[in-house]
Amino acid sequence: MRPSGAARLAGVVGWPVAHSLSPRLHGAWLDRYGIDGAYVPFAVDSQHLECFLRLIPHMGVVGVNITLPHKEAALALMDAATPIARQIGAVNMVTVEDGRLVGDNTDAPGFWAHLRASLGARGIAALHGRPLVVLGAGGAARAVAAALLDHLDGPVRVINRSLARAQSLAAMFATERLVPIPWESRAAALEEAGLIVNATSLGMAGAPPLALALDRAMAGAVVYDCVYSPLETALLKQAKARGLGAIGGLGMLAHQARPAFARWFGAQPEVTAELYDELESALRAR
Ligand code: NDP
Repeated sequence: MRPSGAARLAGVVGWPVAHSLSPRLHGAWLDRYGIDGAYVPFAVDSQHLECFLRLIPHMGVVGVNITLPHKEAALALMDAATPIARQIGAVNMVTVEDGRLVGDNTDAPGFWAHLRASLGARGIAALHGRPLVVLGAGGAARAVAAALLDHLDGPVRVINRSLARAQSLAAMFATERLVPIPWESRAAALEEAGLIVNATSLGMAGAPPLALALDRAMAGAVVYDCVYSPLETALLKQAKARGLGAIGGLGMLAHQARPAFARWFGAQPEVTAELYDELESALRAR
């Protein structure tokens, strides 16, 4: 459906933003549910982020997603923020409420919803009591750690190139369940872990691969890569070759978008095989 003059307007703000799949994702849902709306990319640099965000309530925009590199800077510009956004220290969804900017973070529930959908109740139950590994200490890692602390009960080993950043992540959540581990010890830290999550930017198209030997991962461990471009990273290929579970991050992207779409456009969207086809073909066309 083509947007009318009364269409609800939303979008994604990033710099650069051309790589974002969010317009395709929301566009597919707008078509699917026949909604009079538009979701567009806004290329806004750091210098103009504040001015852009201050303007959107006066442009009829109902909300925007925030992507790299603005997720952390946006938090400081909100009139209000949800507890999860404050805990993670980053905003990926801004809703205009009575002219005010309200920041939220849907990466944590998006990651968890996708993990649960991928593993099923039995697969999730098998993770209880097990150590869990998170590689990275940036925004994605904080979101993943928040979800794991919330839904599972084992220790969460946070491994990051900069140990100080892993330590500050642990301090942020103030729980002994988070254990910072030096980058050099990453292979040994996989022992006994039920779940291993790559939340670094390593393995992304254009970045070096994540150098991590999975030979010490236990049988039945699940490897989750937040990276979704390429769809199958070298880490996931290695996991598959070893007979481990292997899950890519495209579903996290799809699931993190659901609350925003529901809130801004008024329909609860579904993550379907057709939606994955659409996103995968957009990625392949790059
Ligand atoms: P950040 O920039 O906040 O964090 C990057 C992380 O990668 C840091 O932990 C950094 O370590 C680490 N890193 C970068 N380069 C290297 C290197 N050469 N060697 C070792 N570690 C390195 O990014 P985000 O947390 O926002 O994103 C991380 C990844 O997750 C990206 O690939 C992003 O696309 C993906 N992502 C996926 C989502 C999805 O929906 N599937 C949602 C959000 C993110 P250090 O602290 O030492 O610099």
